Amino acid sequence: MKLTFKYPVYPTQTQETILFEWLGHLCELQNAARHDRKVAWETEGKGISCNDQQKKLTVARKKYADFRAVPQDMQVCVLERMDKAFDAFYRRCKNGAAKKGYPRHRKRIKSMSWKLRKHRVKNKSTGEYERVRQNPIRETSWKHDRLKVPKLGEVKIYMHRRLQGDPTQVSLVKKASGWYAHITCELPDTPKVEPTAVIAVDVGTTHYLTTSEGEKEDNPKWYRQAEGLLHKHNQTMARRKKGSNRWYKAVHASALHQEHTANKRKDFIGKLVYKLHHHKENNILIAEDLSVSNMVENKHLSKSISDASWGIFFKWCADIAERDGLHFHQVDPKNTSQTCSACGKKSPKKLTLAIRTFDCQFCGTVLDRDHNAALNILYRAAAALRGERWVTTLYETRNKNEAQDKGCKHAKQLFLFDAFTSPSL
Ligand SMILES: [Zn+2]
Repeated sequence: MKLTFKYPVYPTQTQETILFEWLGHLCELQNAARHDRKVAWETEGKGISCNDQQKKLTVARKKYADFRAVPQDMQVCVLERMDKAFDAFYRRCKNGAAKKGYPRHRKRIKSMSWKLRKHRVKNKSTGEYERVRQNPIRETSWKHDRLKVPKLGEVKIYMHRRLQGDPTQVSLVKKASGWYAHITCELPDTPKVEPTAVIAVDVGTTHYLTTSEGEKEDNPKWYRQAEGLLHKHNQTMARRKKGSNRWYKAVHASALHQEHTANKRKDFIGKLVYKLHHHKENNILIAEDLSVSNMVENKHLSKSISDASWGIFFKWCADIAERDGLHFHQVDPKNTSQTCSACGKKSPKKLTLAIRTFDCQFCGTVLDRDHNAALNILYRAAAALRGERWVTTLYETRNKNEAQDKGCKHAKQLFLFDAFTSPSL
């Protein structure tokens, strides 16, 4: 399991100038790598491997001083990132996808990352040499510790929480509010807990979510709150001369405001996910498998849906579940709001979003619309236990061999069966 820890860093003015120069260089390098691959693909229909590009980089580093000024580890990381993007592109071409989409030409990039190398260290007790990954942090007795950056030296870092596990990669990210270090650590996987209690959630725009127990969480609608001030910032920007100092100040103020809004959103979602998983001791969480990117195309709802960030919500549910050894599953969302949770019959008339209560014509059940949908989601997950359809995506799909041993087609089936040993369903 990988965890990323984020800390603020405070480079000095000289260090910041160098970091900006590096960002410019890495951006050019990334665009050059993209250009090479694009030309090779269009003229010969061939791909270029990451290895070839790294060889070219070595030649360039011998030749040019500005290449040597930037740490090689960062340049290699950029090439690897491009390699990953093009791998996805080649795959899309091979599968004949409608939208192939070249990786984009970037005007600027905002982060640089490097992998931490392993060193040979002599073990004092046994006297043998071991390969140990270098520690990026030097601890001090002051408020700020020091982050070791290649070719730059030490940068102040505020370690407000401890690192866990073995750090493998560091990224320096520039945001409107300053610089941040993202340190990725490798940890042993958490064993899954015994499933005992289950809860299902239905997400929406009027209420952020409704649980299968009928509880609701309000939607704070961050973007709607922020919209007014954002408009003001845009007006200020439009009034000032583009490229002037005053214009840059307005751009910065607007960027800060947007970062603040994003932070508020992430704060809410993080606390909500924690609450669902931990406060009520539900170790199985079930949600819909919504295709958010398709839903955003609905022009009447796109703003609300983007603002709600369901994508982040589902991803964090899965991540927290993996980190803490809990269970998270997603089921097919088709007709969850149109079907009666008591008798299982589909409503003959389509319920529009304006109708907030579900009134069953067949069995006379009257329920809140979202509560009904949440119950349907819960029952679908239970149906998957009995080997019926409905389950689409599950995050715990890593152990394919074990699934085949137990006679399941996919690893996801196996995990769902394991998860639903609770008799209360
Ligand atoms: Zn009914």
